[in-house]
Amino acid sequence: MELEKFIDGCRGEMTALLSELVKCKSVRAEQGSGMPFGKEAKRALDVMLSKAEELGFSVKNVDGYCGCVDYLPDEADGIKLGILAHLDVVPEGEGWTMPAFELSEKDGKFYGRGVTDDKGPAVAALYALYAVKSLGIKLKSGVRLIFGTDEENGSSDIEYYLTKEKMPPMTFTPDAQYPLINCEKGMVRVEFSLPFPSGAIKSISGGQVINAVPSSARAVVNAEFSEKIKAAVSEHKNIVTEQQGDELVINFNGISAHASTPEGGINAVTGLLNALSKIDLSGQNEAINALCKLFPFGETNGASLRLDICDEISGGLTEVLSIIETKDEQLCCKMDIRFPICSSKQQIHERLSAAFEPYGISIISYTGVEPHYTDSDSELVKALLSVYEEFYGKKAECIAIGGGTYVHEIDGGVAFGPEHDGTDYKIHGADEFLPINEFTENAVIFAKSMIKLCAQEEDSQ
Ligand SMILES: [Zn+2]
Repeated sequence: MELEKFIDGCRGEMTALLSELVKCKSVRAEQGSGMPFGKEAKRALDVMLSKAEELGFSVKNVDGYCGCVDYLPDEADGIKLGILAHLDVVPEGEGWTMPAFELSEKDGKFYGRGVTDDKGPAVAALYALYAVKSLGIKLKSGVRLIFGTDEENGSSDIEYYLTKEKMPPMTFTPDAQYPLINCEKGMVRVEFSLPFPSGAIKSISGGQVINAVPSSARAVVNAEFSEKIKAAVSEHKNIVTEQQGDELVINFNGISAHASTPEGGINAVTGLLNALSKIDLSGQNEAINALCKLFPFGETNGASLRLDICDEISGGLTEVLSIIETKDEQLCCKMDIRFPICSSKQQIHERLSAAFEPYGISIISYTGVEPHYTDSDSELVKALLSVYEEFYGKKAECIAIGGGTYVHEIDGGVAFGPEHDGTDYKIHGADEFLPINEFTENAVIFAKSMIKLCAQEEDSQ
């Protein structure tokens, strides 16, 4: 109770700090000396670190990439717990009804870019630490807060940090969702091509980004074939044809979804290929049929590529053929694969090569990251889940996801908060918000986590 009361008493100060941080337009920008991600990211980091210093903590600026705030009382045996949050944000985009770079308050919510992702949780972490210090809770191990400034563009901040500083043995990031994510699938991105001689189809194109189910794809038909092909596809419920001069354009309309959860989408590229495979394309059927065999419309588990790998902790592999285009008598494709922790980049590469080989498909590029997993029986996971369960009075279990969080490359790391299931906080969208009660609630939960993991026995109640 004392803890809740203390943090509630800090609400005004916390809000003032959040407001100052939201005013920093910390979108990645041109670098300068001491500001690897631009001047606004630097400003956000300076604001945070000077407030932490003012609250009595020792701080360190890791060359503008990250900032550290330590609480390591003399009697403590070293840093044990890290909380990792980021102060950079994505651009505002369009459609805001509130100012994007000013903190506004309406109907019990804070609005502004970054209030949930991830400036609000960063402020909550600082005041959680301040509460622990101010209430004189004795720690037997120390806590380090790490504030990064490049999460949204590939986390090069963490890469740099690791060349200069150690990560605490246990680290959580409040940059995803509750209750807790301890398993993140591996990811690979593959580019490949196959011969596509000239014939009925002049060009095929579809998909814009590699990490999404493509929502639209189109084929342009050479004039001499347009009547025949129009007749063959005109009844299809996802297809709209359009006459442009003497060429026919076939548009397939699908539904987009994130590549980590492709089951919810309708893949326009494989849908279009499937429709085309049923027509005589005058020499082009071989390539189309090969793709249809390997990537059947509606399949997302990679079964036809012999990639349907699954384990109990992470669930099944997912794959998306996300981009296609014709270039120099080739069909050039890109795909995204999320694979379970029982597999590896190497194994996926071997299986994919074997599946492609009979069709003369060559892999042009292959990149990715291995899966991330922190044992659900680890001290960190058990402690955080019990804090969550005690606070909300409901049972909590670990979550496995297909995407990657800020701790993907950090051994022993997990994601813990800030989003609750059932609420769309509009992170990365217009009118991003944070319910005001969750702002301080997060601080209480983080403080309880510090106490559970780092306090001396008599204070751990
Ligand atoms: Zn984030």
